[in-house]
Amino acid sequence: MRSIRGRLTFAYAIVLGVTLLIFAAVLLIASRDAAERALRARVENIAELASGLLQQSRAAGLPIMVAPDSMSEELSALTRRLLAGLPGYLLVTDSSRVLYASAAVERLTTKDQLTLTRAVIRELSPRHPGGIVALDSARIFVLANFETPTARMPIFRIVAGETAETLDITRLDTFAPIVIALPVLFLFSVLLAWGMAGTSLQPIDRLIGDLEAIQDGRSLHRRLPVETDENELDRLAGTINAMIARLEGSFAALRRFTADASHELKTPLTVLRADIERAMQSPRVGFDQLPALEEALAETTRMADLVESLLTLARADEGRFDIHRELVDLGPLVEDVHETAAMLGEASGARVELTALAPVTVLGDPIRLRQLFLNLVTNALKYTPAGGVVGIRLERRGDRALFAVQDTGQGIAAADLPFIFDRFWRADRARSRGGERGGFGLGLAIAQWIAHAHGGNIGVASRLGRGSTFTVTLPVAAVPPEAAPA
Ligand code: ADP
Repeated sequence: MRSIRGRLTFAYAIVLGVTLLIFAAVLLIASRDAAERALRARVENIAELASGLLQQSRAAGLPIMVAPDSMSEELSALTRRLLAGLPGYLLVTDSSRVLYASAAVERLTTKDQLTLTRAVIRELSPRHPGGIVALDSARIFVLANFETPTARMPIFRIVAGETAETLDITRLDTFAPIVIALPVLFLFSVLLAWGMAGTSLQPIDRLIGDLEAIQDGRSLHRRLPVETDENELDRLAGTINAMIARLEGSFAALRRFTADASHELKTPLTVLRADIERAMQSPRVGFDQLPALEEALAETTRMADLVESLLTLARADEGRFDIHRELVDLGPLVEDVHETAAMLGEASGARVELTALAPVTVLGDPIRLRQLFLNLVTNALKYTPAGGVVGIRLERRGDRALFAVQDTGQGIAAADLPFIFDRFWRADRARSRGGERGGFGLGLAIAQWIAHAHGGNIGVASRLGRGSTFTVTLPVAAVPPEAAPA
């Protein structure tokens, strides 16, 4: 449950569960209370009725007690008949003896009868007239009416009782609905909460989606939709928008600065180069000054290259670099690149082979594509020692043109591969700097930009010490028949 939706639903389920449990407990306690009051009222009624019957019999002068022998007295048969009409458990006692027990009492086992009569005689008092007596067969709620014994009617208590099973929680009217309805209600509510949490979080999902689309760096001009400023998410979107606007501003300023600085540096560097070249040709320059001038020329050329690369990338970032698209037959272009590479290879002692040349046409800028291919080939030559082989091939794979440069050079460590297209990244800065391989680490960044600008991709596979293969794929142009190269 790591998602906010899951956590919200879980918290809701806990709160709802506890609430429902408390509600169920309160309902059960109240129901039991009501059931107890009803039971007490019924039992009280019967005891009252029995008292009333005896009082009236006495008032009417009927014989309540008879003396079958000189030792004891008992209730007269008439009184017994009268009492037998009352329902439930009924006991009439004098101070220590049971004078009458109803049929329900007599149906109990002898042991239960004994327990009941003992409890009724010993435990019930005017201060404590009722309670529950637990028998083997049942639990009985009993309530006593205390009479004032007289010589004619030595009756002390009239005890009515009824089984207390109506107080059993599982027999309460509310029990079944609680057991059935509450879990159903709980499940239903939790499902509803899950759905509602999903609906309420949908705007966040949308916000994340929109933000993901913006964060690629090229879409900083886009903004998140804001409908009102009353809702929290819209306020958040507003704040993020303001932040993106500031970011966009600083990125633009940075790009503009790089572009402007590179642009401003271009002219003085060209002038400087021309001056150095002129100085080198001057008859007044002595032999001892030439090496210094040559180094100055090399460094100026290097700097001019750097400025050119920076300008290319800065303009590309600003989206100011127009790609002039036209149908380009890659075959001749790659052949041309191969020729140039072969010449460069001769100088560095590497063999350059053109292993495949399929006829493919793409929609693109021939100058940029040439720059892209040459970048890869010169890299391959730069990082392949003398005696190595650089293979170039152009193939067609479905609707993609595939240009690959394979070398048998030093290769790239697996840990370095993710950074290879980053700007100013070089595998071995110390060695690269200043030497004949001295690059700036911008070549591949430019190559990647050109590939992407053409809707294509660039990738690399490499093993340290074994060599590398750089692969460019470009979408093949849908060539209209009349434009198809012959
Ligand atoms: P650089 O001007 O330094 O060559 P790139 O952007 O063209 O800059 O290349 C970046 C780094 O990638 C290089 O410094 C080098 O370490 C590595 N690299 C590029 N191509 C190859 C290759 N064919 N073989 C081995 N390493 C390469």
